[in-house]
Amino acid sequence: MRKKISILGSTGSIGTQALDVIEKLGDKFEIISLTAGGNVNLLNEQIAKFHPKSVCVSGSSDKDRIVGCNKVLCGSEGLEEICSNTENDIILVAVSGKIGLKPTITAIKNKINIALANKETLVMAGDIVMKLAKDNNVAIVPVDSEHCAIHQCIKDISQVEKLIITASGGPFLHKTVDDMKSATVEQALAHPRWNMGRKITVDSATLMNKGLEIIEAHHLFNMPYEKIDVVVHPQSVVHSAIEYVDGSVIAQIGLPSMHIPIQYAICYPERFEGIKSRSFSFSEIARLDFEAPDFDKFPFLNLAYSAGKTGGTATVALNGADEEAVFAFLDGKIKLYDIYEITKRMYDMHTPILNPSIDEIFDVDKEIRIKTRELVKEHCGCLSI
Ligand code: NDP
Ligand code: MG
Repeated sequence: MRKKISILGSTGSIGTQALDVIEKLGDKFEIISLTAGGNVNLLNEQIAKFHPKSVCVSGSSDKDRIVGCNKVLCGSEGLEEICSNTENDIILVAVSGKIGLKPTITAIKNKINIALANKETLVMAGDIVMKLAKDNNVAIVPVDSEHCAIHQCIKDISQVEKLIITASGGPFLHKTVDDMKSATVEQALAHPRWNMGRKITVDSATLMNKGLEIIEAHHLFNMPYEKIDVVVHPQSVVHSAIEYVDGSVIAQIGLPSMHIPIQYAICYPERFEGIKSRSFSFSEIARLDFEAPDFDKFPFLNLAYSAGKTGGTATVALNGADEEAVFAFLDGKIKLYDIYEITKRMYDMHTPILNPSIDEIFDVDKEIRIKTRELVKEHCGCLSI
């Protein structure tokens, strides 16, 4: 029987690669719904090829531009409607940013399994989302390559001593702090290993992405922060590892392609022949390097550990401030290192609410974003540390 799937964010980096995987798998999947933000042209191409029953765009003015699909929804209500459709066996949440949280909760309440790429969902509301998934007997299978690797390594979480998350180190791994301070948007977007959306690519340059992944791992695997380590591994071949209590270390290894974790997450627990540029060869890879992260050059790592250990809305403040600061950097308003400086200031100003409700989470997110934008305006371009 074909697995029925919807993709939130089908026009993005993860979304388009998911459609590559689904195309390769032939008749294994039936697409129920696809959603885009503003890239209507690409969504129209996807409609012509994959024939979804419904689609969603973010702006109502874009609805009339959709061709070839009878049911066109819009905005967050549209995403909610798609995630309430129990015809879906699984929903791939591949939108970027906070927009992923509410639809994910709706899908879980409707007992629909989740393939989760959107890390903000767990960073903002990991306690609520994981409890809801458990109560509703819903599987959340991670798409993020590190978490997907850990998911593949774990047999019995109670026997795990620690998680070891690998980080490529991004484009500034062997550059100086001064190089980072003068980095252009183009340099920050030139990731050596992965081709991803702009926000996550900038987060990968500052290692904030790894910080978000530490928090994501804590929630997904119910692991204390003291037992989550980060190691820099520039080749991005070891996607992460776990150490068992007896000292045995199991790592998941593979060529750096997001097709692999995406396919794993949407097909779980089955495996099929996937898209492969070539077969894996240890002798071709020849060497694997590892080094400890530089916490001084990449201060976001410690900030993420701090926010995660504090819990509650501390991670909401961290996430919201960073996202606004990244947009300001991409708009040329601030420098790369200002992203950390601004986020840290917002984080320090925030008094966390412990055990927040979803409404409180969104209130904090909104307030932090407004204040971050104000701070960006006040200090445009002159904040560099
Ligand atoms: P992209 O920016 O490439 O894609 C984002 C998708 O979300 C697009 O389809 C975009 O639509 C849609 N979108 C953006 N804003 C809105 C909105 N307001 N309403 C509705 N749809 C919206 O991001 P990525 O694919 O890189 O990342 C997606 C998520 O996956 C992120 O949370 C990221 O952290 C995570 N992730 C990504 C990885 C990667 O390799 N790319 C790896 C691991 C995790 P449109 O383009 O039409 O505007
Ligand atoms: Mg990752």
